[in-house]
Parts: sequence; C-alpha cells; structure tokens
Amino acid sequence: MDLKANLTALSNKAREAIKHAGTLEALEALEVRYLGRKGELTALLKNLADVPAGERPVIGTLANEIKLALERDIIQRRGALRHAVVSSALQNEREDVTEPGIRPPEGRLHLVTQAIRDIEAIFARAGFVRVRYPEVEWDLYAFEHLNMPPDHPARDEWETFFMDAPVHPKKGKMILTPHATSGTARILEEMAPALKKGDAIRAINIAKTYRRQIDVTHVPMFHQFDGVYVDKGVNLTHLLGILDYFVKNFFGADRRVRIRPFHFRFTEPSFEMDVSCGVCGGTGKVNGEKCRPCKNGWVEIGGCGMLHPNVLKAARIDPEIYSGLAFGWGVERNYMMKEGLTLDDIRTLYKNDLRFLEPC
Ligand SMILES: [Zn+2]
Repeated sequence: MDLKANLTALSNKAREAIKHAGTLEALEALEVRYLGRKGELTALLKNLADVPAGERPVIGTLANEIKLALERDIIQRRGALRHAVVSSALQNEREDVTEPGIRPPEGRLHLVTQAIRDIEAIFARAGFVRVRYPEVEWDLYAFEHLNMPPDHPARDEWETFFMDAPVHPKKGKMILTPHATSGTARILEEMAPALKKGDAIRAINIAKTYRRQIDVTHVPMFHQFDGVYVDKGVNLTHLLGILDYFVKNFFGADRRVRIRPFHFRFTEPSFEMDVSCGVCGGTGKVNGEKCRPCKNGWVEIGGCGMLHPNVLKAARIDPEIYSGLAFGWGVERNYMMKEGLTLDDIRTLYKNDLRFLEPC
C-alpha cells in the first residue's frame, strides 16, 4: 500500500474513533495516539523519504489536510463532551427549590440605635426635624451661646475634652460636644431668619456626647437628645404638652409627666422632669410595700425649661417677640428604663457584647 492510501486509511480510522470517543479522557488519548509527537501520523510521514520527489508536495499537502481535519474533529468532539458533562451535572445537581434554605446568622439593631430611631420618629410626628452637627464643637455653641460666658463656674461640669487645635478668633476653642444642647444653639442661629419670616423652629438634635466620667452608671461617650421649639407665644403649657406627648408615646399611654423647679444656665424657668413609675403605676407602693425602682412613684428622666432670653439673643432672636422651650436627656438610661432593663454596669452597653445584637 502506498503512503497516500495509508494516510487516507489512518484519517478514516482516526475520524471514526474521534466521533465515538465517549469521554474527554478517551478523546485526549486519541489526540496523542494520532497527532502526538510520537503519534501515528508522524510515524507514517517518516516514510516520505521513500516517495518519489515529484509526489512529495502532494503527499505533504494531504498529510497537512488530514492533520487539520483531525484537529477540527477533536475540538468539535471536545465541545460536545464538555457540554454533556455540564448538562449532566446540571441535571444531577438541580436545586430543589422546595428544600428549606439555610438562614445566615441574623442580628438586630443595638438597643441604643433602636432608641434613637424611636425618639426620632415620635418627634417627627410632632413636626420636629432631626438635626445633626459635628461631634467636635466650638466653645461658642457649647457654652457662650448657652449663657455660659468664659470662666463661668457652670462650665466646670462640661469643660472636658478640648482638642489640640488652634483657637478660633470668634468661636474659641474646639471641644468634643459635652451636651446635645450645643445643637440647639446652632439651630437657633441657623433658623433665626426663617423664624422672622413666620416659620416656627421645631428641631431635635440627637447626638453623641462626651464627658469625663466613667463608672458603673456613666460612660465617657453617650447619647443625648435635645429638642427646641421657638415661635411667638410659646409657653409652659406647650412644654408640658410636648413632654406628655413624648412620655405617652415612648413609655406607654398610662404614664404621666411632672416637672420640678431646677436651675440650668440656658433655660429660665428651668425644671427637672419626672415620669410616673411603670412598676407601681405612680403610687410608690407595690402590694403595700415601698416601690423599689422609684420609692415615691416618680422617676427622673431629664431637664427642660423655657429658653433663657440670653440664649435667644445670642442667636439674634428677639426675646421680646419670640419665646421658646427646650428639653433634653440621655438616650441610654431612658431606654433602659423603658425596657425595664437592669444593667449592673452601663459600660456593658459598649463592650461589644453580642447579646445586644442577637435577635430577640
Ligand atoms: Zn414605682
């Protein structure tokens, strides 16, 4: 048999085998067997030297065509086999959509975040806009605009975390916000022009607050909210109304509020406010015994009052025309009170204890 016939026979045999290769491995073996460096095609072409010189180009072309045809067949068959592998995998591993899924670990919002959102929502319904200001505050808003001139002893409680930053010629030193009331000073100044056009100021600042206190009942960073309402004719009844509204919405419809005279620099008159105890219903007694959490039927929750004329003046609001009320207290302790949560140490709230984030 001459080389040409041998080549054609090899081609037919190889193409048939490739067509019927059942697996990718089998196909690979065929590729090596026919087209490999030591494969059958190479072996046949070693006989090219015996072919008369005139026929060699024809044989060479034929051998090349066979090689290309086999390569094409292999690529095609490989594609078909791969497709079959994938389809069968898809078929076998098809997802059962009726099978119950695996729930990823799920948490919930931290108590403090929940409290902040509750407070924000309750005041939003009463028309109070939530405002936010930097955690680093100027002396001007933290003290001066709040009727605490430089060197006033009332500052002692709050002059704590000063920043190592240049002193501003008008706004003074930088300090970490010692109370949310500095937000009140800012909102009054910002909104003063709108007030003169007839818009009342109703805002609530819920903010991080920094104090130099750390023990079982204090953390150096906690949250406060400070609300303010300024318009013509705002008076104490408005203050009692808004406090009562908040207490009933936050603590429960059966809770009552009362105020007691107190002293703050930024309000006049000033009050501390109490909410009726949720344990004894405000009676101070449980089964004839003194109520433990409150002792007298009331629990103190915060401070409030009518804005001091100097605070209005600092924001360029005329106290002869406008009056305002303000109130504020801490978020953490109020929320604990609401939930009846007793923590031996308030610092636990910020110790990354996962129990605060696990679902109820
Ligand atoms: Zn009580």
